[in-house]
Amino acid sequence: MGFSTDAVHAGQEPEPRTGAVIPPIYQTSTYEQEGLGRPRAGYEYARTQNPTRAALETNLATLEAGKHAIAFASGLAAIGSILQLLQAGDHVVCTDNVYGGTYRLADQVWRRFGLQFSFVDTSKQDAVAAAIAERTRLIFVETPTNPVLTLSDLTELSRLARERNLLLVVDNTFMTPYLQRPLQLGADIVVHSTTKYLNGHSDMVGGVVVLNDSELAERLRFLQNAAGAVPGPFDCWLVLRGVKTLALRMMQHDRNARELARVLAAHPKVQKVYYPGLASHPQHELACRQASGFGGMISIELGTLENAKAFMESLRLFLLAESLGGVESLVCHPASMTHAAVPEEERLRLGITDSLVRLSVGIEDVEDLVRDVQDALEHVQAATTRV
Ligand SMILES: *Cc1c(COP(=O)(O)O)cnc(C)c1O
Repeated sequence: MGFSTDAVHAGQEPEPRTGAVIPPIYQTSTYEQEGLGRPRAGYEYARTQNPTRAALETNLATLEAGKHAIAFASGLAAIGSILQLLQAGDHVVCTDNVYGGTYRLADQVWRRFGLQFSFVDTSKQDAVAAAIAERTRLIFVETPTNPVLTLSDLTELSRLARERNLLLVVDNTFMTPYLQRPLQLGADIVVHSTTKYLNGHSDMVGGVVVLNDSELAERLRFLQNAAGAVPGPFDCWLVLRGVKTLALRMMQHDRNARELARVLAAHPKVQKVYYPGLASHPQHELACRQASGFGGMISIELGTLENAKAFMESLRLFLLAESLGGVESLVCHPASMTHAAVPEEERLRLGITDSLVRLSVGIEDVEDLVRDVQDALEHVQAATTRV
């Protein structure tokens, strides 16, 4: 089946009792047993099994071209569960400018339990190879990265991971399976914050892990129940509803962002535009090869914190808020918001300056978005030097 057909139908048979076309929200904590040890339909307790959650898992596994999906209460809960597959002393090679919360989870939580991390530029195959140690178990990659949109070559990295007997884990939140399917490029595990594009309407928090290996899937399924970071049925239902329009939304996010990136790149007050869809992006060719579009995220360099502040506070349509991937356009200041947990020195090395602004381009009419950005740039001082 095609992507949109799967998005609408996978995991969602009409409900047998009434024929309801939409899977019900099974808002229950437990299920009656007909006799001791005889649950009616295999369901016992809702941390362990929930039909709405199962529908979502089937749907997302299908879209990511994986055999198994395991849903979690948040993207970070999903990432944490992957790390729970490891043992104290194990080592992870991780993209250096991962989502700030992923860095914090690694650095401030899992380090205390004996996991070791090397944060490297995974766009450089040599740097990844050099960081692999005896106890390395997995490579964790985000591509494109947040917020400077650096790409890592998933085909090359999956070859390296296979050679060295490591798991390649890809955070596919920014691209979604509509634009990029890491399992088909050789990755072992895909993880998402469903909070973002998959749900797409900024009204819930959730996560999912998708993979093909049945034994690993069973261990993650065990962790979902044993550690208990499960999503509620209503949130699962919201993602299921959101995903039905994923293709339509991603097309519009992508189209709007391309146009806005073009306008920004030509604007004299914008010192630098980070967007893989621009021919000037250093990895534009890889972006074309690895994904079927460039997505809705753009970052811009405005030279000074005062400029960044004036710009963000002058926008009317773009709302100043954390998060991304919703139908509405948002703007954020990575240095003080999403990446506040990353040490300053590290932040600057990654290009996350105080004057960097990140845009999550929504699905509004692009003329309105362009006008909003142009008007706000009126409040920015002209650059004296170009970065
Ligand atoms: C938001 C986000 C996460 C964390 O997900 P939550 O649902 O907020 O826990 C992880 N990775 C990326 C790329 C994200 O954007």
